Amino acid sequence: VIESATVRDLKALIGADHVLAPDQARRYGHDATASAGLRGSPDAVALPASAEEVASVVAWCYARDTPIVPRGAGTGLAGGATPTAGGVVVSLERLNAVRSFEPLLWRLQAEAGVRTATVRRLARENGLLFPVDPGAGEESHIGGNIATNAGGPHCFKYGTMRAWTTGVEVVLAPGELVRFGGPLRKDTAAYDLTGLMCGSEGTLGIVTAAWLRLTPSPNVQAPVCAFLPDGAAAAQALQAIMASGVTPSAIEYLDPATMRIAGRSFPAEIGTDPGFLIIAEVEGTDADRGELCDALERTVMTDPRALWRWREGVSHAVGAHRGGKLSEDIVVPLDRFADGVEGIIDIGRRHDLEACSWGHAGDGNLHGTFLLDPTDPVEQRRAAEAAESLFGLARALGGSVSGEHGLGVLKSGQLERQLGRAGAAAHEAVKRALDPKGLFNPGTKVAAGPVWRPAVAASEKS
Ligand SMILES: Cc1cc2nc3c(=O)[nH]c(=O)nc-3n(C[C@H](O)[C@H](O)[C@H](O)COP(=O)(O)OP(=O)(O)OC[C@H]3O[C@@H](n4cnc5c(N)ncnc54)[C@H](O)[C@@H]3O)c2cc1C
Repeated sequence: VIESATVRDLKALIGADHVLAPDQARRYGHDATASAGLRGSPDAVALPASAEEVASVVAWCYARDTPIVPRGAGTGLAGGATPTAGGVVVSLERLNAVRSFEPLLWRLQAEAGVRTATVRRLARENGLLFPVDPGAGEESHIGGNIATNAGGPHCFKYGTMRAWTTGVEVVLAPGELVRFGGPLRKDTAAYDLTGLMCGSEGTLGIVTAAWLRLTPSPNVQAPVCAFLPDGAAAAQALQAIMASGVTPSAIEYLDPATMRIAGRSFPAEIGTDPGFLIIAEVEGTDADRGELCDALERTVMTDPRALWRWREGVSHAVGAHRGGKLSEDIVVPLDRFADGVEGIIDIGRRHDLEACSWGHAGDGNLHGTFLLDPTDPVEQRRAAEAAESLFGLARALGGSVSGEHGLGVLKSGQLERQLGRAGAAAHEAVKRALDPKGLFNPGTKVAAGPVWRPAVAASEKS
């Protein structure tokens, strides 16, 4: 096999063992949306071991107009790490050192390829909490969490990745290693470029390390489950919880259609059609839990570990029900929660698809889902159309087309519809300023489209 110039040059830069040719790079051609039929093919995969090596790879690509696709663990649900335009996938997996950990100062510096679960475990073993808990946290990387501004159930109280990132080390075009922020709890000297990197989905540069903030771990975590008749009652319960004076760490929901599928394995006796489930977790005293129970009715107590394990499996159970699903993570303002939940069912009805939703109720983050047979092209097309209607619903309710997964390739083109021309132009100006050649993750996030739609949406999870 004749080696391409790209592979040969990159091997000279970072070592022959750390560059993969296209025929060795299959698993780097997709992320967790592979089941949706989205795959790309890189010209090469670079596996640098240091920030300096990342900078040298970026400099090589930038000088030769070669697309650069940063990659964490590939658990993303928007196709963001998929090399749809070819180019060099830069995998951060070998930058996996915790550079420093100072539990008494509640802070840690980690390279981009450190797993989310590693940071959470280190914190926990030292009486601290790193609250960012995406469902794929056992695999996902800190760099990927920053690039998607990841959340999870507990970001209702604690906020998303941005809230826990005090600084980033980044490789920018045309191959410069820079640092924004650091182990500082405050810093107003500069523009908030740390914040800009959070949620930038690899379109502005490559995060090589981050300074993270930690907090003391709560002693008690007690989830309270309440069953309600419908979305309107759930919306009222949501407001009652927020008015109770207790700050829950998480407020999750599963609509009745989801409960009919996933409720069978709920870790308590609830019957076959239990209604609309709200889970509110409180970290505090028994009195706080009492306040929450008073704010809700028909409460059920369960073992917290069993409950969260069950909650993590919901997406899989729903996907398995008909073999496939298309799920998108829209956000609506809290006062439109019931409209969002009911709107999803209505869209399913209009497109002749079984629909359901669940998600992070306290954040108004709804995983609107359409069930389908992945071997049926007609259902796939209807699901793609239903997803477009879902994005329209989010916009109509004053919400957003994504609360967690980002736009990636799957939703590129949606930004202008949501923000209008002037809002999209501001994003394009930022992109041009930091990536004048448009080489970082082309076709992603700020790209004007066309909107890519999956051929098959089998078992994506969210
Ligand atoms: C089962 C399951 C459950 C999930 N649950 C949640 C959830 O609850 N909340 C949530 O927010 N997400 C969730 N996700 C989505 C996903 O786990 C997160 O988006 C995660 O943060 C992605 O991290 P990653 O390392 O896998 O990134 P990747 O998938 O590798 O990349 C994601 C994006 O970030 C870019 N990127 C990656 N690393 C870097 C870097 N170092 N520098 C610059 N850009 C980079 C990529 O180019 C891509 O655009 C879930 C996914 C699955 C499969």
